[in-house]
Amino acid sequence: MKTLAKLYVCPTPIGNLEDITLRTIRTLEEVDYIAAEDTRHTIKLLNHLNIKKPLISLHEHNEAFKSKELIELITSGHDIALVSDAGMPGISDPGEKLIKQCIESEVEVVTLPGPSAFITALVNSGLDTSRFTFVGFLDRNNKTRKETIEALKARQETLIFYEAPHRIEKTISELFEILGDRKIVIARELTKKYEQYIRTSLKSLSEDFSMLEHRGEMVIILEGAIEEVEPEINKEAVEKRIKELLLQDLSTKEVAKQIAIEYKIKKNDAYALALGIK
Ligand code: SAM
Repeated sequence: MKTLAKLYVCPTPIGNLEDITLRTIRTLEEVDYIAAEDTRHTIKLLNHLNIKKPLISLHEHNEAFKSKELIELITSGHDIALVSDAGMPGISDPGEKLIKQCIESEVEVVTLPGPSAFITALVNSGLDTSRFTFVGFLDRNNKTRKETIEALKARQETLIFYEAPHRIEKTISELFEILGDRKIVIARELTKKYEQYIRTSLKSLSEDFSMLEHRGEMVIILEGAIEEVEPEINKEAVEKRIKELLLQDLSTKEVAKQIAIEYKIKKNDAYALALGIK
């Protein structure tokens, strides 16, 4: 059975306090409770808006069990607004679990449109906006982080990362090391006094971090792979297989065709390899 009360997902400013919609303000005024990532942070915004509401803390460490409590409040007729510290809840911020649980419990969720750092940065980056992947924060574990970057190597769409200021240099170095040179835009301190877009290349930036001397919050927008990267093949294994196939009395053309299928390489390349061995 659908509930009458709802969960309202409310985006809040990512810097400039004017970036809040009239609808978000009205919703915050009308709900019964506000679930907030950091109540001390949200209280400042509410004071600025002259709104007094009971706050409930919902952060990454209590979201799983706190969500149940919130759903009980909604099903007993209370409207709840969900806010994070900045931007869109659920985007590298708490919210996803609560929203999932609401949907599973048939509690209606209304997400209001509003600010998010990555979409603002992408639009103003000047890079391709037609297709993109939002990666968010890379894992802190070295191995996992490198594997994630490695898996992005051949992706041709624009890539978007969030990063903390104290890890930005390490991340830039790793991106360059694994992905090679390509265009990069660092969107810094969006909507704030010192908003800045650094448009450069991964190579130049990793050779000169002085461009990043002014820190603050940053979004990394990276150009996608320019050409499709050929998957690396194990030459020894391919040669061994060519010899096996040649022993089966297949023609060079037939061998090339089979090798192209098995190793996902171009038929011409397979043909050249087979010819070299014959
Ligand atoms: N929920 C937020 C959103 O919708 O954008 C993201 C929250 S996440 C915890 C914080 C990260 O978002 C920062 O480390 C930074 O990468 C990015 N970010 C948030 N505000 C920003 C701003 N004003 N300028 C640049 N990046 C920002």
